[in-house]
Amino acid sequence: MVLTMDRNPMEIFEHHESQVRSYSRSFPTVFKKAKGYKMWDTDGKEYIDFFAGAGALNYGHNNEKMKQKLIEYILEDGISHSLDMGTEVRAQFLQRFNEIILKPRNLNYKIMFPGPTGTNTVESALKIARKATGRQNIISFTNGFHGMTLGALSVTGNSFNREGAGVPLTNTVAMPFDTFLDEGDSIAYLKQYLQNAGSGMDLPAAVILETVQGEGGINAASFEWLQEIEKLCRRYDMLLIVDDVQAGCGRTGTFFSFEPAGIQPDVVCLSKSIGGYGLPFAITLIKPEYDIWGPGEHNGTFRGNNLAIIAATEALSHWETEEFAEAIQEKSIIIKDRLDTIVDKYPQLQATARGRGFMRGIACGEGKEDYADKICAKAFEKGLIIETSGPSSEVVKFLGSLTIDEEGLHKGFDILEEAIEEVVRN
Ligand code: PMP
Repeated sequence: MVLTMDRNPMEIFEHHESQVRSYSRSFPTVFKKAKGYKMWDTDGKEYIDFFAGAGALNYGHNNEKMKQKLIEYILEDGISHSLDMGTEVRAQFLQRFNEIILKPRNLNYKIMFPGPTGTNTVESALKIARKATGRQNIISFTNGFHGMTLGALSVTGNSFNREGAGVPLTNTVAMPFDTFLDEGDSIAYLKQYLQNAGSGMDLPAAVILETVQGEGGINAASFEWLQEIEKLCRRYDMLLIVDDVQAGCGRTGTFFSFEPAGIQPDVVCLSKSIGGYGLPFAITLIKPEYDIWGPGEHNGTFRGNNLAIIAATEALSHWETEEFAEAIQEKSIIIKDRLDTIVDKYPQLQATARGRGFMRGIACGEGKEDYADKICAKAFEKGLIIETSGPSSEVVKFLGSLTIDEEGLHKGFDILEEAIEEVVRN
């Protein structure tokens, strides 16, 4: 389809779209087509995608099987919108999620459909924790990111985003994440706050965390740290909420990011890639004993996005055998090697490599933070889509689709190295 526009689309965005726009600034082109790990703009220029819709496209762009299922359903006039009315596809999703994901992992959760975004599932998790415990306070962690609505923002660390609230963000306490303190033990610190009657902190309803902080700079918590947090939750009757919106759906090498730590959160937030095809979708997993909602107590018009549910159900096929997880884990060795090589080869960056699985990055050292943005901008010119994260945008963040092949990975990292080479030379 050819759209006739009398002006350059970039000018149209500038003229009509709000100042809040961000990605059309960092990737200044007009995209037209995408398949797997590649995207093309209106000039036909090809890009390798190491961004994957900020983690919403773990299965790549326009996955063929999901596309066929969607087309068939649309052609049959299947229900598209239905709030949380009963639909066949909703029942199928619930059944398959239980059989393919929960049962084999010995997990028992009720599945809630909040509105279809990450911030929606987080809001629902915070609410249910407060309702279930009768407490108000929530413990969050430094550099955590949980979304832009007020509840989610109140547990988000980033000051730029927090200031956007325009009102005080209350009833939360930020504690040091595993990797935050240069010296000292973050668990001992938290323990002291919980047990010392003079700490000034009211006992919290819940602790919310990302096992690997995505927006906060690819900070991966150790499994021991996660286990210690779980123990504290049990000791003080706080719910453990794992926000797996970005780290879940295979991103770290297992379906849930917390699996290798052997912990069992009380509530799990999923969005982004749970929709499979990049369609808006979110679910909140709640241990049955905490599923004490009244009907419609937390609701939303788009809880029945059946197109997303169809793609989500098809996406679960990836998890029917061990093969997909094994392939992620194997390919993630390449990612780690390439990032380690970059760190060694470019001491000018004073960088360190971070992360797990397909959620990795290199953090440019103190005083070198600016390099990260420059590297991503240069990489984009050369046909690679990659973004930064971290409180000072100091981390070049790899977030490619899990379905990318080895050739795609190497091509992308070759471009990244070329970009770094040019940036450090100038
Ligand atoms: N939690 C985490 C861990 C996230 O990374 C994000 C999005 N980057 C969100 C919540 C919010 O998701 P959404 O943008 O869909 O509201």
